[in-house]
Amino acid sequence: MNAAATTITRCLHCRRPLRSARSIANGYGPTCARRIRNAAVDTTDYKPHQIASARELIADAAIVPVRGQAFAAVSSDGTETYLAHPTNCTCPAGLKAARCYHQLAARMLLAA
Ligand SMILES: [Zn+2]
Ligand SMILES: [Zn+2]
Repeated sequence: MNAAATTITRCLHCRRPLRSARSIANGYGPTCARRIRNAAVDTTDYKPHQIASARELIADAAIVPVRGQAFAAVSSDGTETYLAHPTNCTCPAGLKAARCYHQLAARMLLAA
């Protein structure tokens, strides 16, 4: 019918086509969403609010795979995109070699 109807939205994790409106909104199929939530990631170096922010970033589909272990993460105000990797990130905190939640989100996604 229209262009939107023919566009296939794929899971950001496994690339399988998403069918339900909820999955499309989440960016992940239900299985991948569960695997990401339950991913075994060492969060001992992170504060609770950083863990919450990382989960929120994933839930909002504001972090998407680029290639290999690199992810594009949208800044909290939506004006910038950072390149996040499990051990480094181009955000202001990441550039200061601090642990930012983008790196944590990248680890969660890679561990799922
Ligand atoms: Zn999937
Ligand atoms: Zn960062």
